[in-house]
Amino acid sequence: MVMEQPLPAVMELICEEVQRVAPAVIASVLRVDADGRMHPLAAPGLPPEYSAALESLIIGPSVGSCGTAAWLGEPVIVSDIANDPLWADFRDLALPLGLAACWSYPIKASDGRVLATLAFYYRTARRPDAFHQQLAEVCASLCMLAFAREEAAERILQLDHYDSLTGLPNRSLLQTQAGTLLLAARSAGTTLSVLFVDLDRFKHINDSLGHVGGDKLLREVAQRLVAHAGDTALVARLSGDEFALVLPDSDRTQTIAAGKRIQAALRQPLRIDHASIAPSASIGISMFPADGDALDYLLHCAEMAMYDAKAAGRNLFRFFSIEMNWAAQERLALESALRDALLAEELHLNFQPQVFLRDGRLYGLEVLVRWHHPHFGMVPPDRFVPLAEDSGLIGALDRWVLEQSCAQLAAWRREGLSVPTISVNISPASFRDPGLPAQVAETLARHGLPAQALVLEMTEGLLMEDDAGLAATVAAIHAQGVRLSMDDFGTGYSSLGYLRQLPVHQLKLDKSFVIDLESDAAARELASAVIRIGDSLKLAVIAEGVENEAQRRFLLSQGCHMGQGYLFSRPLDAVAVAKWIAAPRAVERQPAEHGERHSRR
Ligand code: C2E
Ligand code: CA
Ligand code: CA
Repeated sequence: MVMEQPLPAVMELICEEVQRVAPAVIASVLRVDADGRMHPLAAPGLPPEYSAALESLIIGPSVGSCGTAAWLGEPVIVSDIANDPLWADFRDLALPLGLAACWSYPIKASDGRVLATLAFYYRTARRPDAFHQQLAEVCASLCMLAFAREEAAERILQLDHYDSLTGLPNRSLLQTQAGTLLLAARSAGTTLSVLFVDLDRFKHINDSLGHVGGDKLLREVAQRLVAHAGDTALVARLSGDEFALVLPDSDRTQTIAAGKRIQAALRQPLRIDHASIAPSASIGISMFPADGDALDYLLHCAEMAMYDAKAAGRNLFRFFSIEMNWAAQERLALESALRDALLAEELHLNFQPQVFLRDGRLYGLEVLVRWHHPHFGMVPPDRFVPLAEDSGLIGALDRWVLEQSCAQLAAWRREGLSVPTISVNISPASFRDPGLPAQVAETLARHGLPAQALVLEMTEGLLMEDDAGLAATVAAIHAQGVRLSMDDFGTGYSSLGYLRQLPVHQLKLDKSFVIDLESDAAARELASAVIRIGDSLKLAVIAEGVENEAQRRFLLSQGCHMGQGYLFSRPLDAVAVAKWIAAPRAVERQPAEHGERHSRR
């Protein structure tokens, strides 16, 4: 045991030592598994055909000496096999081999489970004597120690190779098991696929439901993956909300089928506490041998493809392509450039007028951030805002925009320019930051601005019920008198009941509805419905993306009073804003003027 010999070798040694000090004894050890089946472990003095006959015998109340001892959990002494009823079924096996007596001792775990039996056989019928009995007891305790040590070692191995939350293999076991599959695929000339599965919005779910809820979700996802990946698949948890699947003998078509199956299974809603969640995952896929031949590299490729799937939306899967490696490098470059941009102040702000649809009067300005990079050129916010969110830069970005917007508004007011409000876009991540309310208050105070001058826009996608952290921040901001606007309304899945509870002042009808107003009856229906929702909740509705006169008229006819879009003005820099405000404008707008679209630039 000290030399860390494997269990069968230790048992063999014990049996041989027993036979050396007590030559009349033939010793053997049978392991008893959790199903109550016996498996010969060591029996150096017994004929191999005898041990083979015992393999997988089920223990019971009269199954020879060992089967009975394991069943009872007590020593069983049979001094005469030929006449003992316990041996009725096994007599014909033992007697021809010259086995006449058998004493068996159970070997138990500390919790009382019988792990094995130690047997002493004799060639003559005989009762126990004191020396042999003592020897058997000492050996049984030795065996017990050896078994306990083996169980502990297995447990450590388990901890080392399995993820304790989900019970799935971890990365190191995946490495070993996938290695075997890759070898097999290489020699058989078959293909194999590696899937990198990453849950969508897991951080959000974890933040709003707490870690207990997050853990529950991960366990459920693990079960669904195992249930739907296929019998031969390896499923492992890599870390956090990242899982890996290896599908042996799977070509592109089969992999696509598996990917669809898995995504459909994940989408099934589940309840966690009071929230109903339909988990979704983005999946990246790489293929052996086309993309690589080592697991590490295949996982890397699959991960790149997963990022691509995320960027393209969510709940999608993508196969790896070599361009993705370049895209990933560009992404890294962009991310570090954004870090620098925040320091070097390569960012600047644009402002887009929000107007009353009836007469074009200025209602407020929406602040839109712009990044002009010396090498990448103009980087659109749709590209770098998500990047900032992923890389943890968003807090700094939103703070910077808030600060600059307030400074600009204060400057305009000092110049006597009348700008009623500014609307600042704040990312979901920043809204969940408990420091946000204090920071907003401090920034307003420092620039001598009243709270009513500021509107914060939050995207609807960020809403989720039972999100205590978010509700607290929003309430604190509202309490200061700062107004909140629900951006991109109609594109998310927020519950109206929940929306009613939030202290929101306005809805922004998403531009996707407005763009299609003329061509699409459904868009008209939807737009009217959203406007009515706003009305009945007593919220102001601002239509986004108003590009032409027909849209303006339709919106107005449906009771929407405010809008923004190229019809009135494109986003402008600070100097152009001052000019735009000073420019004379018809108070009551005339119908469809030609060239109107760009006339306010
Ligand atoms: P958003 O808040 O929905 O902003 C409206 C977007 O629609 C802007 O795009 C704007 O330029 C564009 N737009 C305005 N009028 C029209 C129109 O008539 N037709 C069309 N087709 N588009 C119009 P932009 O500036 O590219 O911003 C994209 C998104 O980036 C924003 O969507 C917002 O979610 C985010 N974003 C912009 N600035 C910031 C910021 O300072 N902080 C944060 N966190 N996000 C920002
Ligand atoms: Ca916005
Ligand atoms: Ca919007």
